[in-house]
Amino acid sequence: MFSKILIANRGEIALRVLKACKEMGIGTVAIYSEADKDLKHVKMADEAICIGPPESSKSYLNIPAIISACELTNAEAIHPGVGFLAENDHFAEQVVASGYTFIGPDPESIRIMGNKISAKEMAVDAGLQCVPGSGRVSATNRETLSKAKKIGYPIMIKAAAGGGGRGISIVYEESDLIPKMKLTQQEALNSFGSDEIYLEKFLDSPRHIEVQVLADNFGNALHFYERDCSIQRKNQKIVEEAPALNIPEEKKQELFKLCTECCKKMKYKGAGTFEFLYKDEEFYFIEMNTRLQVEHTVSEMITEYDLVKLQIGIAAGEELEIKQEEISVRGHAIQCRINAEHPKTFIPSPGKITEWGKPGGIGVRVDSHVYDGCIISPYYDALIAKICTQGKDREEALCRMSFALEEFFVEGIDTNKELQEIILSEENFRKANISINYLEKVLDIN
Ligand code: ADP
Ligand code: ADP
Ligand code: MG
Repeated sequence: MFSKILIANRGEIALRVLKACKEMGIGTVAIYSEADKDLKHVKMADEAICIGPPESSKSYLNIPAIISACELTNAEAIHPGVGFLAENDHFAEQVVASGYTFIGPDPESIRIMGNKISAKEMAVDAGLQCVPGSGRVSATNRETLSKAKKIGYPIMIKAAAGGGGRGISIVYEESDLIPKMKLTQQEALNSFGSDEIYLEKFLDSPRHIEVQVLADNFGNALHFYERDCSIQRKNQKIVEEAPALNIPEEKKQELFKLCTECCKKMKYKGAGTFEFLYKDEEFYFIEMNTRLQVEHTVSEMITEYDLVKLQIGIAAGEELEIKQEEISVRGHAIQCRINAEHPKTFIPSPGKITEWGKPGGIGVRVDSHVYDGCIISPYYDALIAKICTQGKDREEALCRMSFALEEFFVEGIDTNKELQEIILSEENFRKANISINYLEKVLDIN
């Protein structure tokens, strides 16, 4: 096992990884930008190194600075967390080339699955069904219009390297296709450093269902069931739950089998998530995230396994000792993402938290790096807390979440707590009558 791990991230996820390391008796190195010196995980880590100014490009995305921090502290492995460099194959490659272990899949797996076009090819090879699409297209190629016609409007234009709900746009008619493609290409280049785009059939009001997997170096691949992440705003998840309701059990089992077989086929190792759209009892693969996910928490609650500890074990070369049949579902879990943002405009709301009271009690888990007097920086993601509850069934988990949100308070900045309360008490949501268009269609929120 490693004796020291460097955590190349910030916020709640850095704290989450730090806790796993502490439980495993592994030393920890935190890295931080000048804006983050007072963060909780920086104070709790055994060692902490400032790696640059607040801008992510000069700190949390600064590969040479991160590798130097490893050299300085003699850390043996790097956990990338979620976001920033977690799905960057070049980073994984640099980490390995410098003699450290990257806690995640091989650079090659990240390269293939991190590009949504090659990921879809891989998925098809493994027998999964994808949303019909185009493969790589360009706004200047004449064939593009005929490819689009074949798919049928409305069409989604998606950045192959996209993530975080960005680099996606919808086109309703042919005349808008080329101009929108040019815009999306530019946006993709600015945000992801690649202007590669593709077209995909737009599915109307499907659900977002994803499968959590974990695979080791010995050919073992396990699934940790599914999550329903249909409640989204602008293609970004805001409420997630596990398991997903109203899907035939045999359909799920078939899907789990295909996902674990896909892992074996590509010799995938580490944690990963296969994402699907679900409509009319069919699953359509959209992408794979080759990392831990923000919503891994709900899978941990229903299966009672610590996915981060397992991830670290796999990276250290351990064989998974768990057998698939030992992993079972216990009740239901739900997560509400609390973002520092204006409740109506959704504009980020950085600032000083003057009062902070988090919920607790049976079946409640709060993952957050925030405390009284803490400053929410304008430089990073608006996620400040993940409130999760679990119960013997969905009804109990929801009931606990309602109390948890009522108990939770935050002063000094705006948050989306009120929106979460509206969702939680809304009739369709309570009946699990949900889709990715729930917010627009039911709550009239865009
Ligand atoms: P999850 O699928 O785990 O819910 P999200 O899509 O919410 O993850 O993304 C998690 C975090 O990672 C967010 O902070 C998001 O902005 C960031 N992120 C995800 N993919 C990318 C990417 N390709 N480039 C930059 N940031 C990304
Ligand atoms: P990201 O890498 O940003 O997470 P995804 O490809 O996973 O991008 O898509 C994000 C979300 O966008 C999905 O969860 C879904 O809500 C919506 N979406 C993606 N592709 C389609 C599609 N073909 N039709 C309808 N909605 C889609
Ligand atoms: Mg996604």
